[in-house]
Amino acid sequence: MNATIPISDRFRVKTPQLDMPPRILLGPGPANVDPRVLSAISVPPVGHLDPTYLKVMDEIQDLLRYAWQTENEMTLAVAGTGTAAMEATLANVAEPDDVVLIGVKGYFGNRLVDMAGRYGAKVCKMTKTWGDAFTLEEIKAGIETHKPKILALVHAETSTGVRQPLEGVAELCQQHDCLLLVDTVTSLGGVPLHIDEWGIDLAYSCSQKGLGSPPGASPFTMSSRAVEKLQQRPNPVPNWYLDMSLLAKYWGTERVYHHTAPINMNYALREALRIVAEEGLIERWQRHQRNAELLWEGLAELKIECHVDREIRLPTLTTVRIPDGVDGKAVSKKLLNEYNIEIAGGLGELGGKVWRIGLMGYNSRPENVILLLNALKKVLY
Ligand code: PLP
Repeated sequence: MNATIPISDRFRVKTPQLDMPPRILLGPGPANVDPRVLSAISVPPVGHLDPTYLKVMDEIQDLLRYAWQTENEMTLAVAGTGTAAMEATLANVAEPDDVVLIGVKGYFGNRLVDMAGRYGAKVCKMTKTWGDAFTLEEIKAGIETHKPKILALVHAETSTGVRQPLEGVAELCQQHDCLLLVDTVTSLGGVPLHIDEWGIDLAYSCSQKGLGSPPGASPFTMSSRAVEKLQQRPNPVPNWYLDMSLLAKYWGTERVYHHTAPINMNYALREALRIVAEEGLIERWQRHQRNAELLWEGLAELKIECHVDREIRLPTLTTVRIPDGVDGKAVSKKLLNEYNIEIAGGLGELGGKVWRIGLMGYNSRPENVILLLNALKKVLY
């Protein structure tokens, strides 16, 4: 120790013990989590190669396969938030000069465009108004025009509240030797989703929305067609941390050290996935739909309009039009400060035009809907 170097106390700040307000998180995520998930987080960590932890990893993989309805061997939780899992999909299969066709109908479609370009792909866009979904005919025309190696679609666009129907898309992709990549961040655990039945080759999600865990461990899955493309790459994946050929050796039977896993985040994810399995997917999807409909009815009574047509409206995330003459930001602020309720404003093109209300996972419950409607009524009228 060199006693002659003085220690600066500039940042040795005195902070109080952590004391966060009891928010009700009815925005686009994170959502509140089940107390069972919170207590799983505080279970003491073991080593990331401890046999008991390796068993936790196996259980997460199986429970994710259930939640996603897939048999994919390469199904795991990426250490990071949904964006890390998003990046993992593109990093592994988008090679330089591959044509990647991206359906952009909201903020997260644009994030995919930005990311795919950074991996050297030739990015093509299909665009649609923010609040609408692509028809199968439009997707067919896009594939025939651009002949992509990868088609990327956002199943549940959190910026608009739109559900993109996916039935029939995989058949088109397979006819044109193209992989289907789908963002399921705001659908997994809350909206009907069948990875294998719908022929989805790559999907990613997050933990903090429909699954009901805090952010930090994000679902990823890849079909054997996608694995084949990865294995045929002439050059290594240009992202070491997210390279699935390396991660497969940690999540698979070899158990080779790759990174120090976020042990406690995975405890939480496992507990959240156990809850999904206990409830059952059909029951869970129905609960999300029922509570969303209760919200939509209540909003209609308050003369507040939803932005998206009912047939393609997400049950997990509702965009509502801010009534004329109302200061949207002031309303959200009041809900937060006076009622401890978080809702969000619009993103990108819908900024200042809508509020975004989430009913996800543990938070999709009638008492939350009634509470929010009553608070909104008090703030608005
Ligand atoms: N994709 C969609 C549709 C999202 O809603 C989000 C986040 O809200 C992301 C990707 C990125 O996930 P994260 O914020 O967990 O990194």
